[in-house]
Amino acid sequence: MSDLDDTLDPALRSWVESANEPLTDFPLQNLPFGRFRIAPDAGWRLGVAIGDQVLDLQTCGLVDTADMNQLMARGPAARRALRSALSQGLRAGSPLQSSWKEALHPQAAVEMGVPCEIGDYTDFYTSIHHATTVGRQFRPDNPLLPNYKWVPIGYHGRSSTIGVSGQSFPRPWGQTRAATAPEGSPPSFGPCRRLDYELELGVFIGSGNAPGSPVPIASAEDQVFGLTLFNDWSARDIQGWEYQPLGPFLSKNFASTVSPWIVTMEALAPFRRPFHRAEGDPAPLPYLDSPANRERGAFDIQLEVWLQTARMREAGHAGDRISSSNYADAYWTVAQLVAHHTVNGCALRPGDLFGTGTLSGPAPDQGGSLLELSAGGKQPFTLSTGEQRSFLEDGDTVILKASCERAGTRRIGFGECRGTVLPAAAYPA
Ligand code: MN
Repeated sequence: MSDLDDTLDPALRSWVESANEPLTDFPLQNLPFGRFRIAPDAGWRLGVAIGDQVLDLQTCGLVDTADMNQLMARGPAARRALRSALSQGLRAGSPLQSSWKEALHPQAAVEMGVPCEIGDYTDFYTSIHHATTVGRQFRPDNPLLPNYKWVPIGYHGRSSTIGVSGQSFPRPWGQTRAATAPEGSPPSFGPCRRLDYELELGVFIGSGNAPGSPVPIASAEDQVFGLTLFNDWSARDIQGWEYQPLGPFLSKNFASTVSPWIVTMEALAPFRRPFHRAEGDPAPLPYLDSPANRERGAFDIQLEVWLQTARMREAGHAGDRISSSNYADAYWTVAQLVAHHTVNGCALRPGDLFGTGTLSGPAPDQGGSLLELSAGGKQPFTLSTGEQRSFLEDGDTVILKASCERAGTRRIGFGECRGTVLPAAAYPA
């Protein structure tokens, strides 16, 4: 696990002035990695966010590749060395300022890409609050299934439709049949009518492990490159009909949106928290438990969901904040997910992505999905414009945000993960 080092000193200032603004997501202490290009026909480049700028890592001679997966594969020691060089060069008074100035681009002037090539994608279910609230809708007497406190529940997703913030996608088509439909009645076919988002964090794998070589929990975080925001869009009506007995399928893989900047484990080090289970809960099995995981396996990351309807957008309204939660409330840590995913010998590769699962908090207004906020669609809620929502309407934009704040440290943020629902396309003849 990473330690506090001088790159985290809250007193550090940058010669990039916008990085010194108190509310920037990208001060000198953050330095998240992403992929950008300066024109649609230009190649992707590797960059680091600093204030409202992107620093091109190749132009300033810090990396010899435009391949993020290669950088990820080099592991934590190489990443820390790169972070240290970046921190030194971007500090106020650095002799590198005059040459590195040439490597800066305004973020507003570049296009951000999905931050790496995502080979495999796995989605977990780590919020016990989400699992309990959703479980209660289907099984009022028995909301949490008996495996929940023993197994980090997950399923293998699909990477082909993961897009980057700014993504828009048409409302998906599919088969649905209401739970209340008479037994034996045929399903309907049409555009999804219960479209939802899921507030998640993405976990990007760094160096990975060989097939047949489980990663012990003590070194599990060495396999992690960093975290992003992640929206696992979900078609609840399609999900309700298809999910038994093998779990989610087409209700999930039509679109998922990731934020462009990967916040590294080093930048998150000041925001670690002890990881405790509630009194009376079973201890995790030994392969999912370690002193370090108990002492500092959790992360205090404040999460927010904003909804901007088409009407708000036309009126120049940034949207309503409809819920907030904290990653520290998750039931399983990043280290536990890596240890569990590899316990059977499954190989993780550089650039693989985990979704944490919907990150809901304990309070009713901390639901990380509309399924929770509208009680399965039964309790629509009213937005500041007077519009009502139980599920997403065409033209709705969902914006996820995250930040970390703690006394005596510099605030950092994740940027945004933004996506827009378009009307269903005509089904091809
Ligand atoms: Mn999910």
